[in-house]
Amino acid sequence: AVLTKEDVRSMAREYGVKFIRLQFTDIFGVLKNVSITVEQLDKALDNELMFDGSSIEGFVRIEESDMYLHPDPSTFVVFPWKPRDGAVARLICDIYNADGTPFIGDPRHVLRRVLAEAADMGYSMNVGPEAEFFLFHVDGEGKPTTITHDRAGYFDMTPVDLGENARRDMVLTLQQMGFEIEASHHEVAPGQHEIDFKYSDALDIADKVVTFKFVVRTIAQRHGLHATFMPKPIFGIAGSGMHLNQSLMKESANAFYNPETPNQLSKDCLYYIGGLMKHIPAITAITNPTVNSYKRLVSGYEAPVYIAWSYRNRSPLIRVPAKRGQSTRIELRSPDPSCNPYLAFAVCLKAGLEGIKNKIEPPEPCDRNIYELSPREREQLGIGNLPESLQEAMHCLSLDRVIQDALGPHVLHRFMEAKKIEWDSYRMQVHPWELEQYLTKF
Ligand code: GLN
Ligand code: MG
Ligand code: MG
Ligand code: MG
Repeated sequence: AVLTKEDVRSMAREYGVKFIRLQFTDIFGVLKNVSITVEQLDKALDNELMFDGSSIEGFVRIEESDMYLHPDPSTFVVFPWKPRDGAVARLICDIYNADGTPFIGDPRHVLRRVLAEAADMGYSMNVGPEAEFFLFHVDGEGKPTTITHDRAGYFDMTPVDLGENARRDMVLTLQQMGFEIEASHHEVAPGQHEIDFKYSDALDIADKVVTFKFVVRTIAQRHGLHATFMPKPIFGIAGSGMHLNQSLMKESANAFYNPETPNQLSKDCLYYIGGLMKHIPAITAITNPTVNSYKRLVSGYEAPVYIAWSYRNRSPLIRVPAKRGQSTRIELRSPDPSCNPYLAFAVCLKAGLEGIKNKIEPPEPCDRNIYELSPREREQLGIGNLPESLQEAMHCLSLDRVIQDALGPHVLHRFMEAKKIEWDSYRMQVHPWELEQYLTKF
């Protein structure tokens, strides 16, 4: 339900809210917040609160630093965990310039812009994310380790799954915050979990992903554990992905569904897949934005390496789950939870729309285990690779006008700049692997 400013005011009174956190994310998807007292709520709802944008990574320079917070009333949530007196609530904000125009470096605005482009073509976007994460022990000083709290595996039950209490608490908290939880289970690796919530409109889900990560971390901490969404914390076991189930709606019907065709997929759906596959190298820079992301995209751990799609198989980049009707969707399996969800959804949607506009036919689906194909067989089938490093992905982004256009010049430049520094800093390090390989050999 869409909340009005008046709803927010009366809910704040009803729940005895004393503090409100005004939230937004920087271009890397890191959640920022300014806390205000309830006395300032009216001023905040009238979009009068200002902050210094120059202190936020990837935002603006000192000379142009006055920015305004426009809270979105429909994002009002009271935190279920309470301090001793008075409740705390939050509002997610759009960022505006001093002249009253939306700030083009605001990731929420980037997504809004591509959603508006979709709306012009008659579409809205639904997303259902599947975020995976690890629960690790903390050491005596409270510092996170990579020691898992259990030795359980996929779908295991207690008593092996000692993280189950923490996970149950996470699910209950998320439910109290308006999440419709569809599933929660232990993942393949020890200490690895997944919590899935119901798909919804892309902007709502991007807000929810940001909230989800923060709730999972908070609750883990209360159980004396550290939750991490780092894509590949441990070599040799599965990494954490964030599969993105995506579909388009047109006039409240699923635009990917067509009962008349043999596979019951519409042309729109196939073109959307075509667009995603064409632009995936550049998209990867956004959906897999860290050095570590590429340690996950290797064969053998159910993470994609090759650019292919399939109906059943879980080795390719895109899978089309069997569900049809309103649930018809495609599952993009490359993204990981270190991405900024606003930017990730924006670039996926942009590529999909581009596929529809230009009628980009996808290649034939590949229902074989792609990990087992030889390089020659892959070449014959025209199956390319995802970028193998952050550097390669950034290079692909630098060549793709369509994806650049989705991000807009501000986000694009700040992102490229920051990622170049990140890559260089990694490149210059001497890693333990090198010492192990070379120290005694040469
Ligand atoms: N952890 C796997 C990945 O990295 C996914 C496993 C699964 O959900 N089947 O994407
Ligand atoms: Mg899943
Ligand atoms: Mg999973
Ligand atoms: Mg999945």
